Amino acid sequence: MGKKHANEANVDWQSISMKQYRVEPDTKVKLDNWDPNDKSQFDISKDDAAPLLAAMNTRLEELQELLYAEGKHKVLVVLQALDTGGKDGTIRHVFEGVNPAGVTVAPFGVPTAEELAHDYLWRVHKRTPGRGQMVIFNRSHYEDVLVVRVEGLVPEKVWKRRYAQINEFEQMLAEEGTTIVKFYLHIDLDEQKQRLQERLDDPSKQWKFAIGDLATRAKWPAYIDAYEAVLSKTSTTYAPWYVVPANRKWYRNLVISKVLIDTLERLEMSYPAPEEGLDKVVIV
Ligand code: AMP
Ligand code: MG
Repeated sequence: MGKKHANEANVDWQSISMKQYRVEPDTKVKLDNWDPNDKSQFDISKDDAAPLLAAMNTRLEELQELLYAEGKHKVLVVLQALDTGGKDGTIRHVFEGVNPAGVTVAPFGVPTAEELAHDYLWRVHKRTPGRGQMVIFNRSHYEDVLVVRVEGLVPEKVWKRRYAQINEFEQMLAEEGTTIVKFYLHIDLDEQKQRLQERLDDPSKQWKFAIGDLATRAKWPAYIDAYEAVLSKTSTTYAPWYVVPANRKWYRNLVISKVLIDTLERLEMSYPAPEEGLDKVVIV
């Protein structure tokens, strides 16, 4: 357990459980039953969220420093969401202050010709973390059963067998020392409309607006079906999914921070033993 951090909201955040957002293995997920506006675990105002997140950021920094120093564990964080779901914002706010030497963001966009010439896990495996490293996947191999399924980019029999392949791949990574945690940022159709409109109206955000996002939006129900399949089939003890209520950005950040802190604390990491004889060293 880490030391207590003061926060103005005076929330005892260390004892709050994120279990309700975790998808238990082999449960059938219906996203209608997961409220994107939920704020039950941090029932505070948006103003009180900032100091709380700052306190949690400090703890995450300590744990990431320990991960790096110990050089033993590998940590893989997967972020998945529909357009405007908040993947980029999460990376900016939750990981603010971590040591860039030990944390990498790996974005997965439309595959290149070289990537397409290989199996779908080829580009992904190359980006998985080494010892002491944390890697954040901004999109991931799950696109190969999401956009690929909805857009019919491969035959059904090909994407259907990928759920089992993905579970085995993740199990192999876990057995080889990788801690995996996966987040689906859950927003609703109205929230996406507002966020797309903001991108359209704000010249500094227009670069993020792709006309093609509207065609994707029109297929919302098919994407939700595809996400439900992912969450139902690929949440495992060694690589659990969390469904994060993400209509409120501040709440999303708190939930993700807390899950990461809990996950890293469970590793029971410690600093490497100092070199023999350090107690006798005199610096002149
Ligand atoms: P963005 O996250 O806005 O940079 O967009 C990345 C785009 O790449 C999204 O439209 C994804 O659907 C797309 N993408 C990611 N992975 C794949 C994949 N394996 N096959 C096809 N499209 C993909
Ligand atoms: Mg985009």
